[in-house]
Amino acid sequence: MEYSPSAKELSRFPFLKKSQDHIKSRFSSLDFLFTDPKGAALVERALSRIQEAITVKKTFTPEISGSADDEIAGYALSRIIVSCVHDKTLIDRLTRYEADRAYYFLVNEEEWNQNFQEGEGEYSRLCIAIAQELGIQITKDRIPLVDYVELVAPLHQDRFNLVNRRLEHGFVEIKKDERYELLRERIRVLLRRDLPHKVPSSLCEKLAPGVAQLKKVYQEKMLQQFGAVEESSFPPCIQALVTALTAGVNLTHAGRFALTTFLHTIGMDANAIGQLYARSPDFDLEKTMYQVEHITGRGGSGTEYNTPACAAMRTTGLCIHPDALCEKVSHPLSYYTAKKREQKTAGKKS
Ligand code: SF4
Repeated sequence: MEYSPSAKELSRFPFLKKSQDHIKSRFSSLDFLFTDPKGAALVERALSRIQEAITVKKTFTPEISGSADDEIAGYALSRIIVSCVHDKTLIDRLTRYEADRAYYFLVNEEEWNQNFQEGEGEYSRLCIAIAQELGIQITKDRIPLVDYVELVAPLHQDRFNLVNRRLEHGFVEIKKDERYELLRERIRVLLRRDLPHKVPSSLCEKLAPGVAQLKKVYQEKMLQQFGAVEESSFPPCIQALVTALTAGVNLTHAGRFALTTFLHTIGMDANAIGQLYARSPDFDLEKTMYQVEHITGRGGSGTEYNTPACAAMRTTGLCIHPDALCEKVSHPLSYYTAKKREQKTAGKKS
């Protein structure tokens, strides 16, 4: 007999097709979001979900507030809102949050764990149903090699390396707890793959007040995270770009893009970035400000671009003089936060 999860269970895994089908009839039109007080409450709920996703310390609780249907709808709406914002980092944060939340329920839900028995019980049936919908034949102790290799590619722990694994008849042995970690990764990848949605501009316009509020909170959180701008913590690649500019060298488009997005993300405002470019020999104020505003999302499109990761920096020849810390990071912004932390600790000690 096909397993039918309860509405409460579905609200814990709102990305499942069964969960979306569950609310389809109730939310056949999105007009009520803007005409009904209940709709406005739902928009608020979706915005809170995104704000929780961008909070460094996340808290998951077994009980949801409000109805299961609202919880599922809040999930779907939050994906529409981040699609309107169109910021890659924000989308990454939301999908990671959803995957972590599902992991929390898979691992910790007490009631299900009480029902859990090896190979049977409602909890196990739910876990199998989720794995099936995610398209992987994962059991509590093994997973097909092909699925395993794809899933562990972004995971950096040594224990996931194939050389540290037992292989048998095309399957990789896993521990029961690792099953949840692999499911979490699968959820993250699948949820990320579908975003951003193509949302009609008329709908984004109606959501604009909420989106503006969200952008403000997001900007504040990013600034809190990066703190005051400290040039001494810049990674070698960014230092090299600043030095080149100061020496009057014209930067390539890729170099300008990397430098502008980096400085914007760590909290430098568009005018200060523009002033930096004034050192460039071909400086043109109007053109420079247009480019800076376009890249930082203040121009017409509203899209904020992200600093390229180290792999992309290498491809464009911008990874200059990498040092020991570079070996531990995969993104110039991670270098910056790590270096700031390092300098702060060293400062306290001295
Ligand atoms: S490894 Fe990354 S952070 Fe270090 S210099 Fe290269 S691009 Fe910059």
